[in-house]
Amino acid sequence: MSIMIGLEVHCQLNTESKLFCSCEAYPKDAQPNSSTCEICLGYPGTKPVINKKAIDHVISIGLALGCRINPESYFSRKTYFYPDMPKNYQITQYEVPIASEGSIEVNGMKIRIRRVHLEEDPARILYADGNLETASHVLVDYNRAGTPLAEIVTEPDMKSPKEARAFLEKLSTILEYLKVYDQSKGASLRVDANISVDGGERAEVKNVTGFENVEKALNYEAVRQQNIVRLGRKVERETRHFDEVAKTTRTLRKKEFEEDYGYIFDPDLPVLDISDEWKSKIEKGMPELPDTMVKRFSKQYGIGDYDAKVIVYTGRDFASFFEDVCRIYSKPKAASRWMINYLLKSLNWRSERISQSRASPDTFSELLAMIDKGEITERYAKEIIKEYVDTGFRPSDIASRSGPKPSLQGLRDIVKKVIKDNTKAASEFAAGKNDALAYLIGAVLKETGKRGDPKEIAKMIKKEISNASVAQ
Ligand SMILES: [Zn+2]
Repeated sequence: MSIMIGLEVHCQLNTESKLFCSCEAYPKDAQPNSSTCEICLGYPGTKPVINKKAIDHVISIGLALGCRINPESYFSRKTYFYPDMPKNYQITQYEVPIASEGSIEVNGMKIRIRRVHLEEDPARILYADGNLETASHVLVDYNRAGTPLAEIVTEPDMKSPKEARAFLEKLSTILEYLKVYDQSKGASLRVDANISVDGGERAEVKNVTGFENVEKALNYEAVRQQNIVRLGRKVERETRHFDEVAKTTRTLRKKEFEEDYGYIFDPDLPVLDISDEWKSKIEKGMPELPDTMVKRFSKQYGIGDYDAKVIVYTGRDFASFFEDVCRIYSKPKAASRWMINYLLKSLNWRSERISQSRASPDTFSELLAMIDKGEITERYAKEIIKEYVDTGFRPSDIASRSGPKPSLQGLRDIVKKVIKDNTKAASEFAAGKNDALAYLIGAVLKETGKRGDPKEIAKMIKKEISNASVAQ
């Protein structure tokens, strides 16, 4: 059965203040309801004053997604009654948004963007003693009320939950590169996912955070709808809620249409005129976007498309770390290999981004140089990276703490001792068992504190054992 998925992504924009007042948008460690004023609490008689930075951000998102920037757009009131919205309406853009009709390419597929508009975030609702269905009462935190949101709406161009996730991963990287979205400040992306099977009615799964959750919610929904169709019944149009614990979706509201909200133009906000000068000023100030950077990395550093993609799409901080390393260390291929295969693995294991970690381009380059000079083995370097990411100590300090590299003669003595202590393994190897060699190399490395080149050690072991067999 064919699947059609369209997404609405709400991105909390990176601004100092809220969309219509001067309250701090992302107050750190703030008490609930402390970053509020008459405007974001919706007192009668107050008027919104728009934050220009938020408009700049939506223009740059529109441009990055290949959209047309509309010279005139409007703000409207979306009316609904809910405790998260003290005015009983949300200021949003309905008739004409700031940006329309763009597209981006995801894994060779074109995903069309219907619109990008600006709106205010509602307050945060906390289910005091349970969840949506079980809580006896709710608490409301208006610190979030009025935070600027960009809503990015796609056409239903994705054909599987996996494609939807790939789109979201690409989109969030673009938003991060544009600096319009900053997770470190506590900003988040929330997704409303629309899905239908075989051209039937669609269900909308509301307010899902985390791309893995979006994929899971869509997978569940696809199976649910396919089962309904198989039974010869019709899928109903409805809004559903994703239960993050049970990983299932449940009915929230039946049949809901945008028109049900009774949109009216907001009389407090004039038409938003975006001149060509404004637009081109934003365009000129736009940073390099991920896809352009992938092409540049691949060419400039000769690291190939795959590595370039991994580096760039891991994040802006990871990409600039790579460029900084390449300024100090002259072998980009080796740098990318060690960053992707080992540094990134250690960071992921700690659920850390490179910008939050103790790693620095300077100390990481030092490690790469130590491998080149043969001061440490590759195998030992992999272990140093773990400790390096954990502690931030200089790789040379980590290596020297476990003693200097044994001299050739010293190594030969250790090899002799190991063979003497492990006569069984030695005779097994002499009899042609290769596993025994790996065991002996391991025993030598244990003695040297993991210092010494395994290939060199293997050569020595072979030589010692063959000498011994000749002597017998
Ligand atoms: Zn306020």
